[in-house]
Amino acid sequence: MSIYWRNIVFGRGGEGLWISANFVTMADVHDKATRSYNMSRIKGKDTKPEMLVRKFLHANGFRYRLHVKDLPGKPDIVLPKYKTVIFVHGCFWHGHEGCKYFVVPKTKTDWWLNKINGNITNDQKAVSALEKDGWKIITLWECELKPATIENTLKSLLKALQ
Ligand SMILES: [Zn+2]
Repeated sequence: MSIYWRNIVFGRGGEGLWISANFVTMADVHDKATRSYNMSRIKGKDTKPEMLVRKFLHANGFRYRLHVKDLPGKPDIVLPKYKTVIFVHGCFWHGHEGCKYFVVPKTKTDWWLNKINGNITNDQKAVSALEKDGWKIITLWECELKPATIENTLKSLLKALQ
C-alpha cells in the first residue's frame, strides 16, 4: 500500500506524476507483459504518447506551444494558427470509458474512483470553456497511440487539422 503513496507524493509535477503513478497501479492489475511495457515507457521519455504526437506534428510542419497555462485545462499541445488544442490523455488517469487500459485497482478503489472522476470533471470543464472561446479541441487517448493504432490515429489527426 505504501508504494502508492511514495510514488504519488514524490512524483509531483506534470508528467512525472502521471507516469510513476500509472505504473504502480498497472503493476497491480496487469500481467508481466504490460508491466514491462510500462517500464520501458518510464525509461524512454521519447516514447511517451505526447512525445509521439509532438514529433509527428513537427515533422509535418506544424508549430505549436506546449502546456499553455493560461488556457483552461492547460492543453498539452496548442496550435495557435489553427486555433486548435490537443489533449493527450492517459486512459487510466482520465477514465477512458470502455477502454481496456482503464482498470480500476482492486485496492483503495473508492480513492482511485474519486481521483479519476475529479479528473474527468476537470476535463469536461476545460472543454466547455475552450469551446466557448472558439477553440477546436482534439482529444487523443493513450490507447490510440499504441503501435497497432498510432498510424490511423495520426492520419485522422492530420485530416482534422486540414
Ligand atoms: Zn484508452
